[in-house]
Amino acid sequence: MLPQRYSDSMDFSFTPEQEQVRDLARRFCETEIAPLVRDAEEHERFPRHVFKKWGDLGLLGVRYPAEDGGAGMDKVSDCLIREEMSAVSQGFASAWSAHSHLGIWPIWKAGTPEQKASHFRPALAGDKIAAFALSEPDVGSNIRALATRAEKIAGGYRITGSKLYITNAPIADFLLVAARTRPELSADAISLFIVDVPRDGVEIHSLEKEGIRASETGLIHFTDVFVPDAGLLGGIEGTYPVILESLSENRVGVAANALGMARAALEAAVRFARERQVNGRTVGSYQAIAHKLADMAADIEAARWLVYYGAWRVDQGTLDMPTGAKVKLVASETAVRVSEAALRIHGGAGVMREYPVGRIHRDALVYTIVEGTSEIQRNIIARGLDL
Ligand SMILES: Cc1cc2nc3c(=O)[nH]c(=O)nc-3n(C[C@H](O)[C@H](O)[C@H](O)COP(=O)(O)OP(=O)(O)OC[C@H]3O[C@@H](n4cnc5c(N)ncnc54)[C@H](O)[C@@H]3O)c2cc1C
Repeated sequence: MLPQRYSDSMDFSFTPEQEQVRDLARRFCETEIAPLVRDAEEHERFPRHVFKKWGDLGLLGVRYPAEDGGAGMDKVSDCLIREEMSAVSQGFASAWSAHSHLGIWPIWKAGTPEQKASHFRPALAGDKIAAFALSEPDVGSNIRALATRAEKIAGGYRITGSKLYITNAPIADFLLVAARTRPELSADAISLFIVDVPRDGVEIHSLEKEGIRASETGLIHFTDVFVPDAGLLGGIEGTYPVILESLSENRVGVAANALGMARAALEAAVRFARERQVNGRTVGSYQAIAHKLADMAADIEAARWLVYYGAWRVDQGTLDMPTGAKVKLVASETAVRVSEAALRIHGGAGVMREYPVGRIHRDALVYTIVEGTSEIQRNIIARGLDL
């Protein structure tokens, strides 16, 4: 028997409410999303009507308080939903995350009552689709080098610049665009603007991808785009702290996405190892394969504890940057390792579209890049070590 203090410190279980929301998300994803995945992946087209279904179920407002129209759930619940979504399709989960977190969290946090009424509330209902446009052709990891310009003119701003790899851009009703109002200010004086699309001067090109193909990704050019004063979010001096806070919390969220992919890859590999016969034996009966599966299961368990610990820290208001970075790094790299192992266990079947593991592996690789690459997570963790 462990001393009381150890068992106390390791005591962890989901509440009945959290389990209920996980089960709801699982049922919804398995019945409503799974049948759509193959077609969305093949054509790289996201079925827009899914946003309305998510909205009707309250799945777009998981993290927002009830008084603002949300479901008022905690980060643990948010991560449980993400895990379930990603276990079925990371493409769908990415569209959800770019909308329900990145595209609207800053509006909830720093928006005026009018902005909340015109954009946040309709987005929660799934009536308007959001995209978050931060990255640029020359700005990805180095966001303080942001070049998009929002020049003050009578009655509003004139936006000029380009944004690259923007999830949901081709299907969005509005973009949350990061731009500099005054280049003479410090590098982190970055503002956010709500830009309704289509709009004069905004060109959106769809990009073809190898991963998360069910989500749509765009390159956006802004040429002298007029945005009224009412489109500025927060102050003219910038909303950088809001952007950082949003990205930091979302790191734990995307780690839960990675966990979902890893779990789906393990489940597929176990199914295959039980069924596939070689030399009159199932491949799972070979110790080399069984050990690989055991390592995958152990890796996932470690990532799961870290992800839900990170979510719990968000709920306690104690998540620091290095912890968020560790959670994201471990979970996303686990998803890559586990999905690669799952693919190998499948042999030739692993690269056939009939099986999900090839898709999961491609999708998992994307998650070592988005929301800060693994190198950037290591930089953040190393800074915390005071080297
Ligand atoms: C499918 C997809 C969807 C995306 N969706 C969105 C979205 O909705 N909104 C949005 O704004 N952005 C989005 N992004 C952009 C994403 O956030 C960036 O791709 C990511 O931050 C990396 O930037 P980059 O591609 O410019 O790589 P770079 O910054 O050019 O990095 C190239 C390489 O150099 C390494 N590197 C860079 N700097 C350092 C450093 N200081 N130390 C060590 N190594 C370094 C990187 O780790 C990487 O290996 C998306 C990207 C993809 C692929």
